[in-house]
Amino acid sequence: MSNEEQENRKVNAPETIVAPQVCSLCNIPEQEVLVEYQRWKLVRTKTMKGHKERLMLLHKNHVRTLDEGSVGEAYLLLMKAGSNFFSYTDKWAIFEPVYATVPGHWHRVASDLDENAQDYNQILKTPRMIIDNHNGTISRVYPNGNVSGSSNGASVGKRRPWRDL
Ligand SMILES: [Zn+2]
Repeated sequence: MSNEEQENRKVNAPETIVAPQVCSLCNIPEQEVLVEYQRWKLVRTKTMKGHKERLMLLHKNHVRTLDEGSVGEAYLLLMKAGSNFFSYTDKWAIFEPVYATVPGHWHRVASDLDENAQDYNQILKTPRMIIDNHNGTISRVYPNGNVSGSSNGASVGKRRPWRDL
């Protein structure tokens, strides 16, 4: 084999590990989609882990990262939808993807905060945004116990406008 051929083999080496064809988030069955937005899908997660409700908002395209504006839009949509889907509970949370099984496709998972859920220990170790359905407050919680309030509305807008949408 000539050097040139070897070079071609390298160039053509497949990078199929996280290709959309094998990405579970790119292949969610239509019937599992709860709400379809212009750029997003809201689905119920396949594994509920003992929660009464557990949702995922994902981008329609196989993208790993998003610009700040898109992230803000995603959180707003998830919070708006969550206020309905999690109306049975006082507090629920949106989780940072530190334990995400599909890190190559942008998504955020939200669930209630049932202490008896299978993943409650993991929840405590995950940076999360907790939404209080009663007074509409949002607080960011970090695994080291730090809590930051939402008096400035963080990056998600202020005064829960999704309630009025
Ligand atoms: Zn994907």
